[in-house]
Amino acid sequence: MNRFLVFVCFFVCFCCVAVEAKQPPNIVMIFCDDLTNQALSCYGHPLKLLDTPNIDRLAQEGMLFRRCMVPNSICGPSRAAILTGKYAHVNGFCCNGDEFDGSQPTFSKMLQTAGYQTAMIGKWHLKSNPTGFDHWHILPGQGSYYNPKMIKNGESLQHEGYVTDIVSDLSIDWLKAVDRSKPFLLMSQHKAPHREWSPALRHLGWNGDRVFPEPETLFDDYSGRGRAEHEQDMTLEKTFRPLDAKLEPPRTISDAQKKDWDAYYGPRNDEFRKQNLTGKDLVKWRYQRYMHDYLGCVKAVDEAVGKLLDYLDSAGLSKNTMVLFSSDQGFYLGEHGWFDKRWIYEESLTTPCIVRWPGVTQPGTTSDAIVSILDFPETFLESAGQSIPSDMHGKSLAPLLAGRLPSDWRKSFYYHYYEFPGGHSVRKHYGVVTDRYKLFHFYEPDIDYWTLIDRKQDAQELKNVYDQPEHAKVQKELHGELDRLRKELKVPAVDPPRRGRKKNQKSKQKS
Ligand code: CA
Repeated sequence: MNRFLVFVCFFVCFCCVAVEAKQPPNIVMIFCDDLTNQALSCYGHPLKLLDTPNIDRLAQEGMLFRRCMVPNSICGPSRAAILTGKYAHVNGFCCNGDEFDGSQPTFSKMLQTAGYQTAMIGKWHLKSNPTGFDHWHILPGQGSYYNPKMIKNGESLQHEGYVTDIVSDLSIDWLKAVDRSKPFLLMSQHKAPHREWSPALRHLGWNGDRVFPEPETLFDDYSGRGRAEHEQDMTLEKTFRPLDAKLEPPRTISDAQKKDWDAYYGPRNDEFRKQNLTGKDLVKWRYQRYMHDYLGCVKAVDEAVGKLLDYLDSAGLSKNTMVLFSSDQGFYLGEHGWFDKRWIYEESLTTPCIVRWPGVTQPGTTSDAIVSILDFPETFLESAGQSIPSDMHGKSLAPLLAGRLPSDWRKSFYYHYYEFPGGHSVRKHYGVVTDRYKLFHFYEPDIDYWTLIDRKQDAQELKNVYDQPEHAKVQKELHGELDRLRKELKVPAVDPPRRGRKKNQKSKQKS
């Protein structure tokens, strides 16, 4: 080879490396449904309910956010908030069962325009078909744990197996086929650990019948709080169905799968029926069954995270891929006697958020800043070198991920839950959250009152101290801050109408 050819080869190789180095990061968002911080060992829950080594690995290699908040603690609205970077009163999706207006701007459309390959795989739950994705392969509605039906780019398909494994495999299959000369966005969205919490068959009995420790507030009587907390319908005591308790099998399980299912649940259910438990003993039994099932579902999610991280490593993609792991909200694991979400109380207000961004984020770091799922699209756009639309409500996490908290970072957060009447009968409320306090308002004509919580003096959030003289100063300040936020966000005085619903249709959603 003459010298000229050697030079040309060297020059071409150099340019390829330079182009690759300049390519904006790939983005993988692993998203769960109803996954709560208490279930992840990297969040250090005092009850040590479960080890999640693969999710912990992500935290060890990135930044863990301790207080990532959702603007409206329920499935569909959280997904709409992430796609648009906007609160429900602006993106139009306030309640489950609404229909997402896919014609509006979303960050995935913006990344698509910027040359990203985009895919949405797994739970979607926004009723209308996805827009802004080159490829989508989604569960219809809530989806099923066993042998789920899915919709691939508009075509209905029947899958066999366990939903978390299927979403994981489809996600990796898509990654294997991406064009490596262009960046990509993958949203890999699990159904788990949503109600009715059906674990993979391989995880039945995963705890070896270990008795799980109970939360201190399992038998909360709601004294010290108002009517809304007394009148909700989401307790292990009153709301737990036979399907939740696995006294009935999951509806889409096959005969062959049911043999394994019966081998685990059958003898334990026989024993339960013999005991004729009532009162607190029944609640305690339900709590144990709930923990086995919910945390069993999380085990499969943890394995799916491990498989995806391993694939990124083996494909040489880890170095230029931002991985964000999160959920659409937190969940109650027996605190206040509850399962489900919806409230401004801490377990459902906050959601897991772990970000690994090699070369930017110091491994093994944590942040206590008030951040939100509303910040995800801005973060993705900034990482991709794209401008952030001024009408988005969140802020890019990029400076925090680089180890710098801007001096003007938010010190308060606005929350608004709309779904009443609706599943679990949690009343409409809006409020403001700071590092220490929560001030919130149940605002319907028949249930109009304020609650003030001081988390420093009342970590379990059991006491409404509104109108107590010693809190008068902070109460006034919080009212001022709430007014400021509502004005800034242009929250309408009257709630927006539900989208895509027939007249007089009430929510039938029980979960
Ligand atoms: Ca959810």
